[in-house]
Amino acid sequence: MDKRWLVGIDIGGTSIKVAFINLFGDIVHSWEIETNKSERGHYIPVDIARSIDKKLNELNQTKSKLIGIGIGAPGPVNVQDGSIEVAVNLGWENFPLQNILEQETSLPVVVDNDANIAAIGEMWKGAGKGAKNLICVTLGTGVGGGIIANGEIVRGVNGAGGEIGHITSVPKDGSPCNCGKKGCLETIASATGIARLALEEIASTNKMSKLRDSYDRYQTITSKLVFDIANEGDEIAKEVIDQVAFYLGLALANLANGLNPEKIVIGGGVSKAGHTLLTPLKEQFAQFAFPRVAQGVELVIATLGNDAGVVGGAWMAKERLMNELQVR
Ligand SMILES: [Zn+2]
Repeated sequence: MDKRWLVGIDIGGTSIKVAFINLFGDIVHSWEIETNKSERGHYIPVDIARSIDKKLNELNQTKSKLIGIGIGAPGPVNVQDGSIEVAVNLGWENFPLQNILEQETSLPVVVDNDANIAAIGEMWKGAGKGAKNLICVTLGTGVGGGIIANGEIVRGVNGAGGEIGHITSVPKDGSPCNCGKKGCLETIASATGIARLALEEIASTNKMSKLRDSYDRYQTITSKLVFDIANEGDEIAKEVIDQVAFYLGLALANLANGLNPEKIVIGGGVSKAGHTLLTPLKEQFAQFAFPRVAQGVELVIATLGNDAGVVGGAWMAKERLMNELQVR
């Protein structure tokens, strides 16, 4: 049995997650380094390479223990050459991540979009386990998505496949989105979107509400607070969640009607609300999904949390690199 490790890496705006993962997809060692954004993200690949060397040293292992690296980065990825077209957060533009990281580490590298590798992670070891047709939606600061059809990630013609967050939910007079459009799902179902909806709801009525009291006191509202207060039975907070469930259920049902998936995995910080979100979401989804599509699908909360990206990265390395190496 091959006892070597795969390296899964997930680059985020504040930290980079790195893990050594065995061929069964179990995390053997994982750690984080800070994302160094100085000089337009120039040092990121070097920092990663040094951190891998350091960890191997600590563990008394050599590089021959490692098969290769699967790495996820924010922004559209050119899968042909593993370059990142643009990652505003990191300062990257046409950044040849695969080339540089291969030079720095002397290991083969596969690059994909961060939402895609998170979806693959959930497919391999998480809530999507076993499903070959799967939609993964990540509700965090933004809304990310990954679609897997017949066991393959859907990248599309120029790398923008699976951009679920930018499905238009409010076709008229919607809120501006980071992508330049208006009324995207992200402006509603992200943590920021939920907080914004809550403020709108408070402003639109004089009803008594714990949500309003809390806002008056702290001048700020988080999506977590909205869910917590809704659980205590607050009407305004519940209305906000009903709106989120409506738009998210509508978008996911329409998407599912085109894909007929086996599972829809809801991840990201907002998904920690669990059944407070999942129960109304399932009701809305059932309303808009084609009956046979609704019968075939299960809506579930992601189980890997922050590990989805590194696990998905390792899967990419396993599938792509091990096959290629055998062919070579
Ligand atoms: Zn958008």
